[in-house]
Amino acid sequence: MNSINQKRILLCLAHMSGNELRFIDEAFADNWVVPLGPNVDAFEHELEEFLTKGHPELSQLRVAAVSAGTAAIHLGLILLGVEKGDEVICQSFTFSASANPIVYQGATPVFVDSEPDTWNMDPELLDKAITDRIAKTGRKPRAIIPVHLYGMPARMDRINEVAAKWDIPVLEDAAEALGSTLAGQMCGTMGRMGVLSFNGNKMITTSGGGALICPDEETRRRAVFFATQAREQFPYYQHEHIGYNYRLSNISAGIGRGQMTILDEHIAHHRSLAALYAELLADVDGIDFHGNPSPEFDSNFWLSTITVDPQLTGGLTADSLRRHFEEINVETRLLWKPMHMQPVFSGCPAYTNGVSTHLFERGLCLPSGPWVSHENAHMIVEEMKSCLRR
Ligand SMILES: *Cc1c(COP(=O)(O)O)cnc(C)c1O
Repeated sequence: MNSINQKRILLCLAHMSGNELRFIDEAFADNWVVPLGPNVDAFEHELEEFLTKGHPELSQLRVAAVSAGTAAIHLGLILLGVEKGDEVICQSFTFSASANPIVYQGATPVFVDSEPDTWNMDPELLDKAITDRIAKTGRKPRAIIPVHLYGMPARMDRINEVAAKWDIPVLEDAAEALGSTLAGQMCGTMGRMGVLSFNGNKMITTSGGGALICPDEETRRRAVFFATQAREQFPYYQHEHIGYNYRLSNISAGIGRGQMTILDEHIAHHRSLAALYAELLADVDGIDFHGNPSPEFDSNFWLSTITVDPQLTGGLTADSLRRHFEEINVETRLLWKPMHMQPVFSGCPAYTNGVSTHLFERGLCLPSGPWVSHENAHMIVEEMKSCLRR
């Protein structure tokens, strides 16, 4: 893999610790080549420890490892009782996987825009959206999905306050935010349930996988039940619910266990790159690094992101930078296109304030993973400066 990508600098590429094969070998030696087994159990326990360290009040929290972050969101919605005809509030500024499972359940996404400092769900607009949905439909939305985009924590304290006021459960999409904290607490542990992703480009990978963070063992047991075809306790196969084949394979979980051995290092590297980009861009007019809004926010900086103001850069835009980087074999990416602007969701209600549309027009993700060196970051910023001088 390294050889084909030797010259190109990628946005965020999986990085193996070297310990993964040991856990996979064990699975082969014991013939646990199935979607359950010792690696799955151990991976779940390691995630529970990581997420609750220093927080004894979270000791009841349990993790169900599944085949994808998208599957975890789907299971979360099922456990929250989301059904056909319901509405579910979802952050508009996100990847489509946050919203798609709402539609799998036959429910309708209602999109809520972001605040300018966190880039995540605006709590005031959330409150307005709920008030308006009740006025229009006579019913409360069934769930709220805030997202910690690019690893930056959403303002969960305020979102939880609004959710509690209306008594609506929160499903936290922490797919990009493994290791991010708000006031010292891990993203994914602040809502009723949380979601992680271990896809190839996320903080850690299982080659493909995800997790549902559950408040207790009983909820986790229900999640695993739906993730394994909803088989009832009978000597024959008895089914009283529609089930899914969403469990994580014991081989993939072996990769996950190897990745857990270097998770702290990965997070530290993402953060050190972010700090370097921020420092190097501090005196560059028209290019702003998206940093933590205040000290209680501690993003994992899954991706380092910037916004480009063409009025201050002499017309240079995020997309012209992207095209320049493409020419020199550096992968960058425009920010997520908001869901309320997506053709597939054009019929869905949306509560907007212009923030995510503005960010989509101006923002760019920079190479950020363990494969990106400090030297690379220096080169990338020098390239931006040279584009500005042209
Ligand atoms: C990656 C991602 C997901 C989905 O995770 P998969 O493991 O790819 O299914 C969901 N939400 C967000 C915000 C993501 O970035």
